[in-house]
Amino acid sequence: MNKQYKNESKRGIEWTDYTWNPIGGCQHGCRWKMPDGTIAICYAEAVAERVATEVYSQGFAHHYWRPEALDEPLKLKRPAKIFLDSMSDLMGHWVPEEQVRQILDICRQASHHQFQLLTKNAPRLLQFDFPPNVWVGVSAPPSVMMGRALSYSQQVKMVKRQIEVLHEVQVPVRWMSIEPLSFDISSLLVDSKLQWAVIGAATNGSKAYQPRQEWVRNVLDVLDEQQTKVFFKGNLDWPAEEWREDFPQQEHQLMLLG
Ligand code: SF4
Repeated sequence: MNKQYKNESKRGIEWTDYTWNPIGGCQHGCRWKMPDGTIAICYAEAVAERVATEVYSQGFAHHYWRPEALDEPLKLKRPAKIFLDSMSDLMGHWVPEEQVRQILDICRQASHHQFQLLTKNAPRLLQFDFPPNVWVGVSAPPSVMMGRALSYSQQVKMVKRQIEVLHEVQVPVRWMSIEPLSFDISSLLVDSKLQWAVIGAATNGSKAYQPRQEWVRNVLDVLDEQQTKVFFKGNLDWPAEEWREDFPQQEHQLMLLG
């Protein structure tokens, strides 16, 4: 597993302690159109194809299965937050069901950890039973996925479907990564009953493009109404006195104890 850093300059993911990738590679091919017209590729794809080229020798679209990494969370004794598919999408249609079940079984055994799962293929979540220590999350839609540009109405439809699916998933923590917040999705989050949300700016390399302030405020109003905890990514420009880096962990633990 890889330790993550709070300090952005060390290129970590701020909202987790470790990343764990018993699978790697992804066929979703996400792309984001930036406000200035440039196109950002998926961060994991950039890492795989520009930095970790030996590990991802067959390219990022290839599916890698690493059973030797399965027991890593069991060796880590100190409770931690672990992002379990930072270099893939565990719910990707190409990931064999048996591999997903083996990974979820490790999460079940390592009950002292909190596992953070994120997917852009929400409907597949309904095929599995998740242990209570898996935070089941969906990502806001990109501009392009699997080679197809997503129109605004397709993105709205995708968010609606994601929220519908999350309502059916029986875990204490359901969450959404709104990273980037590229349009005002507040009306779609009414009654979403999320326990956690991560909000960030759009980025392309070192350049960040801020969401409109009223979009963030509208989203916060809706999330506050339903007591959703919010974590701001470090790339968001926001007044320091209103800064948020909250986690749902405490409530989650209380629910487990209760
Ligand atoms: S689903 Fe995630 S890992 Fe896959 S291409 Fe999209 S952003 Fe990258």
